[in-house]
Amino acid sequence: MDAPLYLRPRVDPPLASLLRAGTFLHSLVDALGSPLNVLLPETVAENARRFRAVYSRHRLTGRVYFAHKANRSSALVRRLAAEDVAAVGVDVASLEELRHALSCGFTGDRILATGPKDAEFLWLAARVGATVNLDSPNELEQLSALVRTHGLGRVAVLVRLSGFESADGHGGAGTRLLSRRSRFGTPLRDAEELLSALERNADAVELTGVAYHLDTTGVEEKVRALEQCVLFMDTCRARGLAPRAVDIGGGFGIGYVAEAGEWERWTTALSEAVLGSRPPLTWRGHGYGLRNEGGTVRGAVALYPGHRPTAGPGYLDELLSLPAPVLGRSSANLLLEHLHDLYIEPGRALVDQCGLTLARVLDVRLADADSGHHLVRLGMNAGDMSLEEHGVLVDPVLLPRGKPEEGEEGPVGVFLAGNLCLEADLITRRLVHLPRLPRPGDLLAFANTAGYAMDFHAHRAQRQPFARTVAVERQGDDDWRWCPDEDYWPIPSPGGTSA
Ligand SMILES: *Cc1c(COP(=O)(O)O)cnc(C)c1O
Repeated sequence: MDAPLYLRPRVDPPLASLLRAGTFLHSLVDALGSPLNVLLPETVAENARRFRAVYSRHRLTGRVYFAHKANRSSALVRRLAAEDVAAVGVDVASLEELRHALSCGFTGDRILATGPKDAEFLWLAARVGATVNLDSPNELEQLSALVRTHGLGRVAVLVRLSGFESADGHGGAGTRLLSRRSRFGTPLRDAEELLSALERNADAVELTGVAYHLDTTGVEEKVRALEQCVLFMDTCRARGLAPRAVDIGGGFGIGYVAEAGEWERWTTALSEAVLGSRPPLTWRGHGYGLRNEGGTVRGAVALYPGHRPTAGPGYLDELLSLPAPVLGRSSANLLLEHLHDLYIEPGRALVDQCGLTLARVLDVRLADADSGHHLVRLGMNAGDMSLEEHGVLVDPVLLPRGKPEEGEEGPVGVFLAGNLCLEADLITRRLVHLPRLPRPGDLLAFANTAGYAMDFHAHRAQRQPFARTVAVERQGDDDWRWCPDEDYWPIPSPGGTSA
């Protein structure tokens, strides 16, 4: 076999020490079944503090709102509720997420309600004093009508903008750069309609800020959008409105793969495989968006950038340090000069290193005699581990049940299949290289799955069980305590884990 094309995960402490606690993890799966999600609530609090440190460095005020949709866990939300009330809030995108955040200890004034909303969601948000991140002028009218009909207090609102464009300094006169299209938010070109709706409904809503969320890793695009929000807020002020906060959404990202070299080697090899100059790296030659057109690679690779030199708090730092294209100052200085608060809504990045997903190896067999690759069937399905759904490629860590036998060492390429009677139920379409062939009873640990991967797409097809979720905390060197996710509270308790 060629040198194994590993994509080994980035694991920092304490996730790294959890991965070394093989006996503990095996005992959890023996008791609670496969698949199993394991969360580290302390790490989410640590991540919030890292984001706050970037605020301090730039002398900025405002809040970090956890985008709840990244994970359904109670432990993570409760742990964040215990953080400084002025520093950490939660961003909810459904009625149930709002109810959950309230039950986890967030008061309404620390909650942002985002996304498209129905009347029930709007009513509860207004009733508990949450800030409503408005998706459209229609939603503004609907909320205002609810406030009047039910005699609710004036509701704090942000307006979510989209469709940012700006003159392109490099492209010549008239060239426009349009930011990513979004189904959400009000396009800037409809700003006049929005402003008059805000004025008309001033008895019911108070504009407290301006928001955007761009689903991209492109930092320049975000700097441009931030500046346009600041300029739009100047317009608001000229009209007698008084917004104070700029909400720049989420999308700070995670670096999943530890080594840049492994990521580069793998992506280069994918192009070669698509061209046919090396054997396929994927199930039935899947190209992840690339194709061979007469000997040339075409298409765009639909993959998350596995290795990222800057992500999370580092990415926020970069965004705040870059100069705004029109006004020239750094984004941080723009906010400081205007005395604006900064809101961010990190989902994925806030749960970086916060957990892993375990699956039991059920069966190992040869995929086909020619390639020598094996098919490893796991006690989980693609819904339980939706890294692939987000284009995230990273290797699981093998946690053997016992000691390897003679001749078992040595890298192998395997395909990971799920527990559904469905040809498409592959955990990943990639040929995964492992340091040795797994055996039934071994565990595979998928590291860093707390952001979207562990429960976003979980379903009950074929009545296969949902993964249970547990919260763990390290007590001593090799001593781990655990409790069911729903039983975790961020206070010391004799039996369970504690903050
Ligand atoms: C999904 C979402 C987020 C979180 O995005 P991440 O990429 O997980 O940081 C934040 N804000 C809004 C409006 C979203 O839809």
